[in-house]
Amino acid sequence: MCRTAYAKGLAAIGFSSHAPLAKTLPKTEWNMPVERLGNYVDEVNAARQRWEGKIAVYLGLEIDYIKGLRSALDNDITGLNLDYLIGSVHYLVPPHGAPFTVDGPAAELEKGIREGFAADGETMVNAYWDAVTEMLALGGFDIIGHLDLVKKNNAAHRFFNIESKTYTQRIEEVVRAAASGGFVVEVNTGGINRGYLSETYPSPEILRLLRRHNVPVMISADAHNAQDIDGHYQTACQTLLDAGYTSHVIFAGRSGGKPVWHEQALEMIR
Ligand SMILES: [Zn+2]
Repeated sequence: MCRTAYAKGLAAIGFSSHAPLAKTLPKTEWNMPVERLGNYVDEVNAARQRWEGKIAVYLGLEIDYIKGLRSALDNDITGLNLDYLIGSVHYLVPPHGAPFTVDGPAAELEKGIREGFAADGETMVNAYWDAVTEMLALGGFDIIGHLDLVKKNNAAHRFFNIESKTYTQRIEEVVRAAASGGFVVEVNTGGINRGYLSETYPSPEILRLLRRHNVPVMISADAHNAQDIDGHYQTACQTLLDAGYTSHVIFAGRSGGKPVWHEQALEMIR
C-alpha cells in the first residue's frame, strides 16, 4: 500500500482498519479481532519508519457508532493514541430484532428492514440519521466516514425516497452538526471503486450543502487494495468542484491533541 501510494505521488497514506468491536457484539467479517490490534499498530508504525522522508504514514481506526453499544469515546480506543479516528455508522439497532449493517448486500438490508422496522424503509433511514446525529453529538473522532452510506443499496429509491422532505431535513440537521462540531467530512470513492455506486459518499447534493456551511472535506478511496489507492480521485475532485469547493484538506498529523489539516487547491489533487 505504501509503495503504491509513494509511486503515485500521494501526499500521505493513512491506515484506518475497522476497530475491534466489544466482545458482547456479534462478530463481523470486517471488524479486526481485538487480539490483532497490537499487531496492526506495530505494523503501521514499522511502515511509518520505513517510509520516513518519502511519504507520511498515519495510523488511524474507523470506529463504529452503534447506538447504546459502541462509540469513539470508548476507553479501549481513546487510550491508543492514534493519529486520527474516523467515525462511521454501519450498524443500526432496530426496536425489534438484532442489530444489522446497512453496508452489506441488499438482501441483508431488506431483511433488517423487514424484521427490525416492520418492513418500513423510511423508518429505517430515519434510524440511520438518528445514529449519525447521535454520533456527531458525542464526538471523539476527527473525520465523518461515508456520511450517506445508507444509500448503498437504494438504487431506484428501492427502500426509501432520498427526495422526501424528511430526508432533506435530516441531512440539513447533520450538515449543521458537522459544521458546528468542527468535523472534516470524507469524500469517499469506495462505492464507485467496488462497483456499487456511480457517485461519491456523500452525494453531490449533500456536498453542495456542506460547502454552504463551510465544512472542510478530505478525499479518500477507502481502498481495500493497493491498486484502488487513488481510485476515482478525479471523480471526487470534479464532484467537489461542481459543488462549489475550491480546496480539500490533507491530514498532516496532530498538534496539541488536535488534527492538523493542510488545505490544498482541488486542481492539485495530489
Ligand atoms: Zn466504513
